[in-house]
Amino acid sequence: MKILEKSQLIKNQELSAKDNLESFCQIIKNVNPEINAFLEINKDQAMEKAQDIDSRIENGEKVGKLAGLVIGVKNNISVEDFLITAASRTLENYQGSYDATVVKRIKEEDGVIIGVTNLDEFAAGSSTETSYYGPTQNPAAPGLIPGGSSGGSAAAVAAGMCDLALGSDTGGSIRNPASHCGIMGFKPTYGAVSRQGLLDLAMSMDQIGPLASDVSGIALLLDVIGGLDPRECTTLDWQAPLYTPALQDPLDHLNGVRLGVLKESFDVTDGPIVKIIEDRLAELEGFGVELVELNFEYLDLCLPTCYLINYVEFFSATRKYDGRKYGHRIEEVCGEEVLRRIHMGSYISQKEYSGKYYKKALQARSLIKKEINRLLSGVDVLISPTVPKLPHKIGAELDTMEMYAYDTLTVVANLAGIPAASIPAGIVKGVPIGMQMQAKARDDLKILQLMSFIENNL
Ligand code: GLN
Repeated sequence: MKILEKSQLIKNQELSAKDNLESFCQIIKNVNPEINAFLEINKDQAMEKAQDIDSRIENGEKVGKLAGLVIGVKNNISVEDFLITAASRTLENYQGSYDATVVKRIKEEDGVIIGVTNLDEFAAGSSTETSYYGPTQNPAAPGLIPGGSSGGSAAAVAAGMCDLALGSDTGGSIRNPASHCGIMGFKPTYGAVSRQGLLDLAMSMDQIGPLASDVSGIALLLDVIGGLDPRECTTLDWQAPLYTPALQDPLDHLNGVRLGVLKESFDVTDGPIVKIIEDRLAELEGFGVELVELNFEYLDLCLPTCYLINYVEFFSATRKYDGRKYGHRIEEVCGEEVLRRIHMGSYISQKEYSGKYYKKALQARSLIKKEINRLLSGVDVLISPTVPKLPHKIGAELDTMEMYAYDTLTVVANLAGIPAASIPAGIVKGVPIGMQMQAKARDDLKILQLMSFIENNL
């Protein structure tokens, strides 16, 4: 059943919020010890909320857009009364004392927050293996990584432990686990969703967004969390369209839609994954789309640019974890990858007087942004694989560059601030494969419309 249909059932008293929650709690109890998607749940608080929603519905009172839907929140987003650890020992005792704007908005619209989900330490990773609380399993491909860093959120949705989840995406962390777990994930236009209450990884690229098993769930959650936030100066003063009503009249053909296909994205992707994307594109052609082959010459430049910016901004963001106010001193307790970024960020920042690295990275970023916008100017949506290779076995030894290479195709959207999503496109060796869609800044709706078409027709 689609998320939107379920929300109607709850509002029509055909399904109680309490029963919806109860069934998820049962699943969490059965599978979470094995999957390790949720780090902490609070059933009592969620039940109180669910019962309140049911009684308001019974009394004919108005309830919010998310009434009774059960939601997981990545543990780098502040939720009052939960431990907000970012999966790091640094913050193992840090109690969330307020709700992030996105969480506040979810609660105001009667979403039921059941718990907080696992991630790579400080969201710095692509596999959810670097969590202080152990790795998360991929429910769709047992034994393999779920992707990351929002692997807990993706696995929670994929394993049926909640209706919807929030993730954060700095270089692909929503789209990559959505792809590996066989669900949908959406990184909105930079500034479309408030980052207030998100622990920074690299603030000029971080963006909060939804994960769900269908497009109606993505749209519903986006409708609630998006919009200007006076408490967050990078949010856009932009009245985005409401996506749920906009998707009510589904397209019945795609005549006139132009899809750009990035040649270089296929060159760096494993053959069987390319084949799946090509098959989907051929089907879309049958529905009237025009495919436009494009060259993106700066693809090689994207990973180094993104990681350099990431190191510097992350280093700066971690200076507050000095052991005085928020728990432990980060360098004393963090894992290897986080320490690498702190050292690299510190080194680059010290050398910066010569403008050697960070300034260069910012110049490269402008170039990349300009070029991707030029390519987007002639098409509606860009299509590529989401991740160029299959996920590895949990615990396999990968070198740093191999790990970073998972992000080859996703970092572009963060560098350029454009919206991007991943939708399931097929299966290779039993592992789900995602197809990525990117559009111009503020064209989030175009992506959602195409996702909705694919969901209904392919
Ligand atoms: N994998 C990338 C990194 O390690 C991106 C992480 C993310 O999007 N949060 O930085």
